[in-house]
Amino acid sequence: MKIAQKFAVIFLFHLVSWNINAQDLSYAKSCIKTLCSEEFAGRGYVQNGDKNAANFIRQEYAKHKLIPLGEKYFQPLGFPVIYYPNEVEIKLDNRPVFAGHDFILNPGCPSVKGTYKVLQLDSAMIDNSQEFKRIKGLNLKNYFIVVDDIKNKNFIHPERAKEILNNTLKAKGLIYKNNKTLVWSPAMDFAPFPILYFKAGTFPNLVLEMEIKIEAAHKVHGTQNVLGYIKGRVQPDSFIVFTAHYDHLGKLGNDAIFPGANDNASGIAMMLDLARHYAKNPPEYSVVFMAFAGEEIGLIGSYYFVENPLIPLKKISLLLNMDLMSTGDEGLTVVNATEFPYLYEQLKLCNLSGQYLPDIAPRGKAANSDHHYFTEAGVPSFFFYLRGNYHHYHDVEDTYEALTMSKYNEAFMLMVDFANWRMREYIDKNKK
Ligand SMILES: [Zn+2]
Repeated sequence: MKIAQKFAVIFLFHLVSWNINAQDLSYAKSCIKTLCSEEFAGRGYVQNGDKNAANFIRQEYAKHKLIPLGEKYFQPLGFPVIYYPNEVEIKLDNRPVFAGHDFILNPGCPSVKGTYKVLQLDSAMIDNSQEFKRIKGLNLKNYFIVVDDIKNKNFIHPERAKEILNNTLKAKGLIYKNNKTLVWSPAMDFAPFPILYFKAGTFPNLVLEMEIKIEAAHKVHGTQNVLGYIKGRVQPDSFIVFTAHYDHLGKLGNDAIFPGANDNASGIAMMLDLARHYAKNPPEYSVVFMAFAGEEIGLIGSYYFVENPLIPLKKISLLLNMDLMSTGDEGLTVVNATEFPYLYEQLKLCNLSGQYLPDIAPRGKAANSDHHYFTEAGVPSFFFYLRGNYHHYHDVEDTYEALTMSKYNEAFMLMVDFANWRMREYIDKNKK
């Protein structure tokens, strides 16, 4: 071999080894962009949103040559859900307002169609005994009652406020106006009556009539967890598990699409990038990748897996759940830190030696993402979420374009270091 050739080979080797050892931010970004695109319809319960997302994840698993768990990577399951197949339409005195942008519905909002009168109540009316008595005497079945951000006010008569909010006045529905954000969530059951939350400045002080058309439907939604793994070189029957939920809220009519870029396309992207990484750098343990369905409606996919495990739960030495992974300027929060102090200390050491994130913050146990049922089943598990200057949550503005991915590389490296430490630690211990 000539010297020039040798150099070329060495150069190439370095290039390749750098590539296979590092994260791939552009790959992660392209995954998020795809998962947030219109075709995926907010990865929810309309227009095959979550099915398309599951198929995309399956394709990526196959690309990285993951070994399938379940039937071609799928573990099917189902659960009931309320969904909104058609346009959600509201007009205030003939002026249209838009779902997701001007207003949002309560989870499980029942169907309502027609033209209704509007009764706006302020705290003076509620606090005045005579006036309140008069209002209570009205027949309000053709009315929507409007209150101004009532939860945050100090009422002299909180029991009266409660009567209104619980709709003991038997109005057709309620409207909260002047909300800061329009946060939505899916539901399994119908709510007892419709509630509309209007963003600050979108519900005028004087409205006489409201025209409304909301068609809520109920179904048992068939979905699937998407599961695959890379076989360990040294100890294939021990497992490190990376999890993230791929579902989000879907759509509310045609105007409101909830892309869920941070929640949780970002976690899925990091999980797929980890799959890509470990496929090229075969690990000592088997490394399993679990993309869960039905998280937003109540951790259904991960619960189903824990009840019907496709690997022995006792053989999982560490599970890392990623949910909300697009920031990091303010650091990382670790749910379950206080449950597993030894692991938490090691995580901090990994972060210190790699100089990755500015802060690692501990949290206690919380049933707030897919790690939860694994923890309950005795699996050592952490839920990681990154913190930073990003304030869109369960709203239509949690978009691909809004993400910065500012500490993606650092968070990725921390995951790998920590997972690799755990494998090495077990293997070293077993040698003794
Ligand atoms: Zn989430």
